[in-house]
Amino acid sequence: MSTPFVNPLSIPVLGFCAYSGTGKTTLLKQLIPELNQRGLRLAVIKHAHHNFDVDIPGKDSYEMRKAGARQMLVASHVRWALMTEDARDGDPELVHLLKQIEADKVDIVLVEGFKKLTLPKIELHRAAHGKPFIYTHDDNILAIACCDDTELPSELRRLDLNNVGQIADFVMEYANSWQAPNPALPIATVDVSTLGSDKNLSVSQGLAQILSHVTPVTEVEDIGLDDLDNRVLARDSISPVDVPQQTNSAMDGYAFAYQEPMPESFSLVGEVLAGHQYSGTLKAGETVRIMTGAPVPAGADTVQPRELANEANAKVSFDGRIQQGQHVRLAGEDIGQGQVALTQATRLSAAEQGLLASLGLDRVTVYRRPTVAVFSTGDEVSQPGEALNPNCIYDSNRYTIKAMAKHLGCNVIDLGIIEDSESALEATLTKAAAQADVVISSGGVSVGDADYIKTVLARLGNIDFWRINMRPGRPLAFGKVGDSLFFGLPGNPVAVMVSFLQFVQPALRKLAGETHWQAPLFPAITDETLRSRTGRTEFIRGIYRLGNDGRLHVTSTGNQGSGMLSSMVKGNCLIIIGDDAEAVNAGETVFIQPFADLL
Ligand code: AMP
Ligand code: MG
Repeated sequence: MSTPFVNPLSIPVLGFCAYSGTGKTTLLKQLIPELNQRGLRLAVIKHAHHNFDVDIPGKDSYEMRKAGARQMLVASHVRWALMTEDARDGDPELVHLLKQIEADKVDIVLVEGFKKLTLPKIELHRAAHGKPFIYTHDDNILAIACCDDTELPSELRRLDLNNVGQIADFVMEYANSWQAPNPALPIATVDVSTLGSDKNLSVSQGLAQILSHVTPVTEVEDIGLDDLDNRVLARDSISPVDVPQQTNSAMDGYAFAYQEPMPESFSLVGEVLAGHQYSGTLKAGETVRIMTGAPVPAGADTVQPRELANEANAKVSFDGRIQQGQHVRLAGEDIGQGQVALTQATRLSAAEQGLLASLGLDRVTVYRRPTVAVFSTGDEVSQPGEALNPNCIYDSNRYTIKAMAKHLGCNVIDLGIIEDSESALEATLTKAAAQADVVISSGGVSVGDADYIKTVLARLGNIDFWRINMRPGRPLAFGKVGDSLFFGLPGNPVAVMVSFLQFVQPALRKLAGETHWQAPLFPAITDETLRSRTGRTEFIRGIYRLGNDGRLHVTSTGNQGSGMLSSMVKGNCLIIIGDDAEAVNAGETVFIQPFADLL
């Protein structure tokens, strides 16, 4: 039927094919964050049918290309793009395009829109569109994503078109089972299936493994606006009204019908206050005094602010340039009636709560809160408020963990400090698992540690002990006790917080229904040289600020001991130095993850 496809890369390539209007792009826009969350780094190639341009007329790069550059590469410290003029009759060659992808930077390439190519594909099918199936004449289709009630006369793997999580599962499976055709080429995918106990894992491998075990809660509740408390929306919120309800003024000033040329002066015929209306229709040359938020009278389309107007003897003249339609907010310009105002899986913080209120909605359906049980282990760990025995330390981990879990909207059960005996631990774990979706402990999970906690965990649950290639926070236990997820965090207080931010946070957010969440990362210029080690991700506590050059700058908080909680207090972000870097020199760009979200 067409040229056989030979993947030139060392990573898998997977296509999505469908007739237009099936919702391919909509799906990919949801699938991409979902896969990112599972640790899969993505490249996307999209076939456009029309003459498109990514550049903007007036930009230097645009003008140089228009002047005749066949290839134009524009680059900054955050992004680069190569634009190539390639006027040809048929489609561009996918293999050639694939060769442009940097396979060491991503784990899989998703391809949208090359319907006819013999590349492994998922077919998206929406029966309501009345289009035929593609799989009947294309045997490169691996799976069909369609609606629940679609009859599928095929042995092919069936996926639910409306279940992004399920399609993501399939992509993960495909990526993990894919073998490079040439065994000499490295496979850069996260191979979840081969991960086992006591394994060295990278941060992204650990996270992928964890997220693949998290199933979001499905139970929902109807909650009043006053009790929303950062819960996660379980259904799209559809606006019952236009916001704003009517076209209104954005300024205190004068409303009139724009005309060209503008008359010397307008006749003042009335005044309209917010919450009221001007009953007549303005004629050319007439104006009304209008307040912010007041409806713009029929006939008028433009507002001039009071500061630029001169009113005398029922005549008004204006200073400065006037643009038709200025300072007027159109009915429905924020949100139109019937539009999705907030999508399912959105966390309802201050702005979202305000938006719901602005639509007149006083109740919404949210997911139930996950329940998290927390305890500490260790003979030396003592309860704050009590006298500190020699050789002991106060328990801080339980308090940082509880605060972060509460901030994420979880119900928290505090099980205290567990006395150093197998029977106490066993009883606590059993009780915790019966009550909580997630059980979090700290201490006693270091590889090589003689701690009894491992013995009990091995007996009660299905738990892996990992060495994550990161600092701080190398040891991490993860698995299941009964139906609950179990996190055994390290003992050191900073390691606990960093491990929580990197692993527990994404898991709790996914569990709570916030399925599109990704840690916010920003580029910043480091003002000092930061040391790291290849093969290990470094999470340095940092302080970021806006520099005089208008860019973000960051410095470390100084001493980075993994027990020094003061570094978390001083800092406002983690500086992340990936496992491929040895050191970052002063003046270079690093990524930072602000605490703002959680701490
Ligand atoms: P572990 O992983 O149990 O060997 O603990 C590593 C370090 O963290 C030790 O110095 C412990 O004293 C300390 N640590 C363990 N649990 C806690 C806790 N709940 N609060 C503060 N420090 C702790
Ligand atoms: Mg210990």
